[in-house]
Amino acid sequence: MIWNKARECMSRDELAVLQGKRLVELVRYVYDKVEYYRKKMWSIGLEPDDIRGIEDLEKLPFTTREDLIEAYPLGKIAVSGSRIASYQFSNHGDGHAGMETAAGYTQMDMDIWKECMARSISMAGLGEQDVIQVAYSDGLCTEGLGAQYGAEAVGAAVVLSPDCRPAALVARMRRLGVTGMISTPVHLKCLAQMVEERGLRNSLHLKAAICGGESWTEGIREKIQRRLGIRLYGIFGLNELTRLGVACECECQKGMHIQEDFFLAEILDTHMKLVLPGGRGELVFTTLQKKGVPLIRYRTGGITGIYYERCECGRTMARMDRLSHGIDDVVQVRGGSVPVSRIEEALSGLQGIDASYIICIGMEHNVDVVDVCIINMKGEGALPAADVKRLAAGAVAAVIGVEPEVHIAERGKTETFDGILGITDEVFQEALEGRKVTIVDRRRY
Ligand SMILES: [Zn+2]
Repeated sequence: MIWNKARECMSRDELAVLQGKRLVELVRYVYDKVEYYRKKMWSIGLEPDDIRGIEDLEKLPFTTREDLIEAYPLGKIAVSGSRIASYQFSNHGDGHAGMETAAGYTQMDMDIWKECMARSISMAGLGEQDVIQVAYSDGLCTEGLGAQYGAEAVGAAVVLSPDCRPAALVARMRRLGVTGMISTPVHLKCLAQMVEERGLRNSLHLKAAICGGESWTEGIREKIQRRLGIRLYGIFGLNELTRLGVACECECQKGMHIQEDFFLAEILDTHMKLVLPGGRGELVFTTLQKKGVPLIRYRTGGITGIYYERCECGRTMARMDRLSHGIDDVVQVRGGSVPVSRIEEALSGLQGIDASYIICIGMEHNVDVVDVCIINMKGEGALPAADVKRLAAGAVAAVIGVEPEVHIAERGKTETFDGILGITDEVFQEALEGRKVTIVDRRRY
């Protein structure tokens, strides 16, 4: 079912006109309301009248996560506090205020979120006949909030489950006749495993699940679908935009439809130039309708591709792939979340060590464990290996709060890690060529 045919199936030409109109209004709005953007536009000699449609988008400056952190907590909120209906925070790391980003939502922003979630739930084939269990535990409880609004909007019965242990989820599914799930890949994977091991599939009424909030792969989709006998749909969101619901997969499962009437997406190369349709690059979003914290060309840091062909489902909204390195570029370990950039900073600051790092996060006895692999070390021997290990362990532990085990690779060799950590050649090569820190999250692959 298509929740909002008038919007989701509008022609690309009509959509471009609507986006252009909304962009012009947005630029005028932020210029009037947000000092931060006004100054930024002044600094490059840009006037609101210079933006006449989406063709002028590239004239506008970018916004980064660092900008948001700097503006903490309310620096970029466009409306007065009394008009904000809800504040939501992304806590990056140890709870230090400087590492938090705040998003203020007006009632209209909340309505947009609800609309996006209603569209997403409908894409998964769920609606008023369904009982939807929303399973997000503490750290991601806000995701659950949006899922609840959306499920209510489509008229479904909602079961909110902060207790996401598989046994608890299954018990509720059986008792309440749950037909749809909205949860994280990790919870769904554990659930599917238990259902298979105990042969419970036939006692459930599950039809579909929507999965988002953490990174996952096609391999995980295949496993969960097979074990539960359902279809699994990806969903995408970022707190800074509107949490889950910015994009979601339809029944064709060929990329997530972006809600382009609310979120204008661009894919840019490393020189910040537009990539041709289908090409991969950094995902950048402009919030066309947000009033609380409107964002112009927000750099998500995630890499993906966007496709503009009409989908077989009838929707015309473009589709995006999953982000290649994790939503929000944040590592979640033992309940805390830390931006990768902070780990990079800590390791870059080490005196006498010039290297790249692969950080592997795994799970032992249900507890997250961290391994740090030092690769491509230059000037080897300048410091004794034991000192290198001690310094790296200290730097990582200080940021993520978990004492890691540290390994050092011989120059150009991956074999060192094959046995212990299962790092493939492909990952190793990418890590050598890529950024300073590469995250391998083995809890999710
Ligand atoms: Zn579709």
